Amino acid sequence: MAVDVKANLDLVKERIAQAAAKSGRDPQEVRIVAVTKNVPLDVVRQAIEAGVRIVGENRVQEAMTKFPYLDSCVERHFIGHLQRNKVRAVVQAVNLIHSLDSLRLAEEINKWGERLGRPVEVLIQVNVSGEASKYGVSPDALEAFTEKVAQLAYIRVRGLMTIAPEFKNAEDARPVFRKLSQLALEIGKRNLPGVEVQFLSMGMTNDYWVAVEEGANLVRIGRALFGERGR
Ligand SMILES: *Cc1c(COP(=O)(O)O)cnc(C)c1O
Repeated sequence: MAVDVKANLDLVKERIAQAAAKSGRDPQEVRIVAVTKNVPLDVVRQAIEAGVRIVGENRVQEAMTKFPYLDSCVERHFIGHLQRNKVRAVVQAVNLIHSLDSLRLAEEINKWGERLGRPVEVLIQVNVSGEASKYGVSPDALEAFTEKVAQLAYIRVRGLMTIAPEFKNAEDARPVFRKLSQLALEIGKRNLPGVEVQFLSMGMTNDYWVAVEEGANLVRIGRALFGERGR
């Protein structure tokens, strides 16, 4: 069955607008990252026709089969756990990495940024919920971690990202999002070199409206746009 991506996108935008209004924010500042894992290239192109301007992939191999074939007006984001041996390919192909989760990865990204001759833009992934299954820096370690990353000349930290646990009730994710907003504020106040906390990447199909109410300006949406695709 064909999925009407345009209709789905309009619904998601509507819900973002409502959430933004509820919290007194401008809906225009919330950008949708269309998560295209398991979505074939022609459907990704339909989404772009429908108005998607940021595409996100969580696996390197899949990203490499699509990113080079997208219109240049589209931003490419990498949102999944990144292995160090794949950094080289990713830094060349993407505009933003959402998932910096270790110092060793930061050093590898820095190395390839230096070879490219430009800083690589990243978000630091924070494991706010503390689930063992999730990657990310713990909230307690975030400040020291960010200070170390700030010393790497070819990485630019642009904000924070988190993945909330899968709750039945989206409301239950609110404290996770609120905590990430607080952490972003605290890190921003430090005025570290190469750290400019502008993006809060939080909220997915199950909970994005709650994330927007708590300050998200990048929401990563897969199923609400493309239907269930098997993960
Ligand atoms: C798959 C994925 C998403 C999107 O999930 P949906 O529930 O389909 O909206 C967001 N972020 C990451 C890191 C993902 O892997």
